Amino acid sequence: MISCSSDSAENQTEAAVEPITVYSSRAEHLIQPLFQAFTEETGIEVRYITDTEAALISRLQSEGNSSPADMLLTVDAGNLWHADQLGLLQPVASEVLQQNVPSQYRAPDNTWFGLSLRARTVIYSTERVEPAELSTYEALADRQWMGRLCLRTSKKVYNQSLVASLIARLGEQAAEQVVTGWVENLAVDPLSSDNRAIEAVEAGICDLALVNTYYFGRMQTDNPEIPIAIYWPNQDSSGVHVNVSGAGLARYAPNADQAKKLLEWLSSESAQEKFAGLNLEFPVNPDVPSVDLVKAWGEFRADNMDVDSFGALQADAVRLMDRAAYR
Ligand code: FE
Repeated sequence: MISCSSDSAENQTEAAVEPITVYSSRAEHLIQPLFQAFTEETGIEVRYITDTEAALISRLQSEGNSSPADMLLTVDAGNLWHADQLGLLQPVASEVLQQNVPSQYRAPDNTWFGLSLRARTVIYSTERVEPAELSTYEALADRQWMGRLCLRTSKKVYNQSLVASLIARLGEQAAEQVVTGWVENLAVDPLSSDNRAIEAVEAGICDLALVNTYYFGRMQTDNPEIPIAIYWPNQDSSGVHVNVSGAGLARYAPNADQAKKLLEWLSSESAQEKFAGLNLEFPVNPDVPSVDLVKAWGEFRADNMDVDSFGALQADAVRLMDRAAYR
């Protein structure tokens, strides 16, 4: 899908400032209101295209130093890490970003910065599971859950990052035992999306699933009485697996100065509630509260692992899931 914000008469009178071009794998309805607010505040126009992560990355690669892109906006630290590995991003020295984005949610070399947080956590049927039966990601491999677990396909980067975090935390062998146990406990073959997994719990096909919090939030918005709840695992140990959406400046950004301003603005208090709230995520800026629906899920302890480390372990995670017959 390709779209472009329209030039308003107001902006044209301030045409001295070149527009910013953003390549985004985040959906249009989640970014357009932010860019509009930025333009209203600063007079800087933001143009954007939205597409899949893979399409945007190959576009940046083929365009090379003639790319019009100033910023890449995407989800999952693994994807941001990958874009950086391909040399598609440039470091940004910014005290504002250092201040607003906690260090575990940005690249050590400042090539990308998290802008919102999503937990990949357990959801369970409140009709068939007692929260006291739950404890950790690892315990979902126990025989107790045989035929009761739903998972999304291992091809999704979210699961690759989750398994990468298990490898970092437990070591390869123990991580493989956990994933093998999950696969043995599956109620049905891995599903195509987090939404299908939540629907399967609702339909009684399985009793629990691992999903990103905002998908559950959307279901809850549509049906506040849905008999499913969120559980925060590993509260006595490593904490809940958290990933980011985020952005970095394109390596050959023609308008890097203005794009840096946009990146800083997106991390600021005035933008963060909307950036996270529109997708029912958690703000990355710890000074900004979540929207009420998200707040109602309760406080939890998050894994403090650097999300940057997921990328380097993703290839290992893919091989591990293959060995564990996780499709
Ligand atoms: Fe998603």
